[in-house]
Amino acid sequence: MSTVPINHVPPTEMGLVQISPKEELIRKRLDEERRRLEQEAGIERRQTAKFHRPIENPFTRSQRDKTTILFGGLTWKHEKLIHGTLEGLGYKCEALPVPNKKAFQLGKEYGNNGQCNPTYFTVGNLVQYVQDLEEKGLTKQEIIDRYIFMTAGACGPCRFGMYEAEYRLALRNAGFDGFRVLLFQQEGGLNQAEAEAGLEMNLDFFLGILNAMNIGDIINDVAYQIRPFEVNPGETDQVLDECMDLLHEVMRRKKPWTLEGKLASLLNKTGFVGSAEYIGKFLNQLYGDDYMAALREVRDRFNSIPVDHTRVKPIVKITGEFWAQTTEGDGNFNMFRFLEREGAQALVEPVGTWIMYMIHQAKQQIRDERGLDLIEQGVSKWNLKRAFGSHLAAQQSLAKLTTAEVVFKREYHRIVEALGGIAHHLTDQYELQRLGHPFYNSRAGGGEGHLEVAKNIYYSNKDLCHMVLSLKPFGCMPSTQSDGAQSAVVTTYKDMIFIPIETSGEGDVNAHSRVQMALGEAKVRAKNEIKRVLEETGTTLEEVRAFVEEHPEMQQPMYKYGHRKGVVGVAANFVLHAAERMKSERSEMVTVQ
Ligand code: SF4
Repeated sequence: MSTVPINHVPPTEMGLVQISPKEELIRKRLDEERRRLEQEAGIERRQTAKFHRPIENPFTRSQRDKTTILFGGLTWKHEKLIHGTLEGLGYKCEALPVPNKKAFQLGKEYGNNGQCNPTYFTVGNLVQYVQDLEEKGLTKQEIIDRYIFMTAGACGPCRFGMYEAEYRLALRNAGFDGFRVLLFQQEGGLNQAEAEAGLEMNLDFFLGILNAMNIGDIINDVAYQIRPFEVNPGETDQVLDECMDLLHEVMRRKKPWTLEGKLASLLNKTGFVGSAEYIGKFLNQLYGDDYMAALREVRDRFNSIPVDHTRVKPIVKITGEFWAQTTEGDGNFNMFRFLEREGAQALVEPVGTWIMYMIHQAKQQIRDERGLDLIEQGVSKWNLKRAFGSHLAAQQSLAKLTTAEVVFKREYHRIVEALGGIAHHLTDQYELQRLGHPFYNSRAGGGEGHLEVAKNIYYSNKDLCHMVLSLKPFGCMPSTQSDGAQSAVVTTYKDMIFIPIETSGEGDVNAHSRVQMALGEAKVRAKNEIKRVLEETGTTLEEVRAFVEEHPEMQQPMYKYGHRKGVVGVAANFVLHAAERMKSERSEMVTVQ
């Protein structure tokens, strides 16, 4: 005899829908008939236990010294800086290792079936970490008492909204029932401090995390731009390691700005001390110089790595789902290192684009929903007071988000400049929307929304890459949707080289070989480009190299040579610039003679 789980609770039973007596009768008859058929087929009904969010043990301020906050999900560079920031704020913390295949298997074993690939990897990674702690000698109870996991939360609409529940379920299934998972909500604003007293999610926390993520993004970009051209193999990674240690220490030592002295005691009496401190923290963020000296030192260290910009390499823009395009491990078949081994330059995606996208989407929603509150409340359109009030509230919300946009961009680009100005600026969200919307409705949320499509068009049409590689997790709903739209995109933009790769816990060889094939085409394009440039300038690569040999500044990674319209590759742009310099130096010599 087989059994079927009864796991569907009709909305009527939940009190959500009013149904008529006739419908009630139909349902009753249907139920009776279902039971009869089940009996005939020998199927026994059984009640299944549903997963309920457990009542969680609190994380209190007094537990801070004895509790380690675990986190993960980005690159090791981002995580190292977040680690420094959290330590600076007085927390004990540890970044989880980059998820590997074993983590993926554990995620499948202990989590729900039918999740998307990043869920398996990240959930399994946490289970793997706590299991390792147990192997090292800690008891389950000690692990539950002394560790918590911090992650971002959202309400979907894709499976991202289910991550928190998945973490809890997998931990429970692995025997760590009661392990604490703390969330900071993407849309929760700058002060979620009341959520947990042990972890104060206040302005200091968010500014610290934001700085760490921005610096992580830009260092990541810089390293990926230098490594393919380094003269001495391994030097970029060595410098990167040293610089990350230095920046970690800077983040760790940075203390949050606070109001002190006579002004503090004066404002304390007036009751304005809270607002004044808030403003002070913002101003310190905007005009302070806390990280700048260290960033300039990092810039100089990177700039001392000798590079050869005459190497002809196809540029591969990485897009796709947020986690799959960010992680640097088994979660995307170690794709970035694979591309570099194959002679390509990977153009990685910053977390900053996602933050700007979130702000952009929030603004769009406010504009779309303007005035709906009046309709919902049945307010007459002649009620000018209410109409004006509603309009003003929407304008205020938009103004706040516009300020956040401007400030975030400014802060990001300030770091780009401090690190030598070679990292890419943030892509304009309004242009991305304009490019992507005809193919993928920009109101459709979930995952990267219209960004996957828009970035493909943007980077290809602006001569920023030879090929776009989209990393799309197995089981990802939004990525599957944009895959459909991409076929319309590549039909419209026929010159584009676009390859979507579905990432999973297995199938590395197949994925690598598909990328290799597309890369072959991109390499031909890069070679044709340099050939054209050499012909146009009437020079050879040997001549350019000999010239560079005599000009040491041109061997530095932060040497500026510009980007020309219609020219994509580093070597092609560099040769165009070098040829101009060669010509002008030659004419100067003729004039002197
Ligand atoms: S975007 Fe896709 S892979 Fe990422 S959480 Fe949502 S469904 Fe999963």
